[in-house]
Amino acid sequence: MNTIAVLSGKGGVGKSTVAVNLAVTLSQQQFRVGLLDADIHGPSVPVMLSLDKQKAFASDEGIIPLTYGTLQVMSIGLLLEEKDDAVIWRGPMKMQFLRQMAQEVRWGELDYLVIDAPPGTGDEPLSICQVYDPLAGAVVVTTPQKLSAVDVRRCITFCRKAELPVLGLIENMNMLICPSCGEAISLFPHGSSSKTAEEMHVPFLGSIPFSPEIARMSDDGIPAADAAGPAKEIFQKLTEYITEGLLCT
Ligand code: ADP
Repeated sequence: MNTIAVLSGKGGVGKSTVAVNLAVTLSQQQFRVGLLDADIHGPSVPVMLSLDKQKAFASDEGIIPLTYGTLQVMSIGLLLEEKDDAVIWRGPMKMQFLRQMAQEVRWGELDYLVIDAPPGTGDEPLSICQVYDPLAGAVVVTTPQKLSAVDVRRCITFCRKAELPVLGLIENMNMLICPSCGEAISLFPHGSSSKTAEEMHVPFLGSIPFSPEIARMSDDGIPAADAAGPAKEIFQKLTEYITEGLLCT
């Protein structure tokens, strides 16, 4: 099994969007795929996959994942009593929770486990590296803003220190395609994630434009990779590069 962590230097850059669409695309290719939403403080995967009204089932044999098509899904959001509950835990409890997820979730046989990791370079992503050792690699998501560039460099350095191969960097929300004239409008004129990737010696996997379609579908609980359109093609290409990258690690 290949375990892929999707990381970001900071929150709100589209990490969960990439994790969800990567997992959905792999499952469309007939792979057996699990998606673990390990973002303890901001689990967004249940909403993105229309699973937020359901609860995970815990039996004597362990915790049974929910499913989206053939994709198996687990998130702390599926274990909370109320969806508005906040998780207020100190470091050791978070570590214990991540360990429990690794031991007790009954995925069955998997080809890929995609982990939507908590943002940043603190205790939680480090715990994921330890608990899921050996991870096959990390996909790092960023936006082309100056502030994101600083954080994404830290994130790549974190991967190096954790001896986690970086499969590549994905730039999200770099531009908006005007719906009426088709012109590409740069949203953050001073950033370039491909330059950051080059400077940090990691592969640049590509860019995902800001798309009102992605935003709307994500709110409606349908991943863009599951509907025909330009976003699906982008996620297919990114997934292809990621799986190719795994062959080289
Ligand atoms: P993170 O996991 O980094 O916190 P999310 O993936 O949850 O970020 O994305 C934050 C919000 O931005 C979500 O509402 C998501 O639907 C939206 N979003 C992410 N990427 C795009 C995109 N390329 N176009 C439009 N909306 C996007």
